[in-house]
Amino acid sequence: MRYCSSCGGPVRLQRPPGDDRERHVCTVCGTIHYHNPKIVVGALCLWQDRLLLCRRAIEPRAGFWTVPAGYLELGETAEEGAAREAWEEARARIRIEGLLAVYSVPRIGQVQLLYRAQLLEPEVAPGPESLEVRLLSWSEIPWDELAFPTVRWLLERALALRDQDGPLVTVFNPIPAPSSREP
Ligand code: ZN
Repeated sequence: MRYCSSCGGPVRLQRPPGDDRERHVCTVCGTIHYHNPKIVVGALCLWQDRLLLCRRAIEPRAGFWTVPAGYLELGETAEEGAAREAWEEARARIRIEGLLAVYSVPRIGQVQLLYRAQLLEPEVAPGPESLEVRLLSWSEIPWDELAFPTVRWLLERALALRDQDGPLVTVFNPIPAPSSREP
């Protein structure tokens, strides 16, 4: 960030009083521009013994398979966001069952909340961000053509919990917490 989104003035990295790290601070109006992780919401959507996957029409990873997921919008709950993404990417109407997994991905500044859901009807169709959508059996999952590691983790977890009614929350932290890194 080089220029302030409030006044257009130049922005400089500096540590505000009482803060523990550098921020982008406007040299004209003093606005502190915080950059924080984004929340991604999505759902593994089931119809009987099949699951919904979408082949991405857009970069990154165009042509590879994923579950419907995307950035949470202001003004909606995480569950509403997951249902919206299912509609946008696969024209799927769903009922959220529960949270399957929380994945922190600090390298790309994301926290992903991924749900398990039931399709209300088996009719699905590609939205503008999908090349194709399919209801696959568990044995048909294209493991070598998945778009992102989190999709693989989610499918592995969903497979392990396949016969459990009550979905469980898992929290995945790929890097140690700060306290455990200190000498
Ligand atoms: Zn400014």
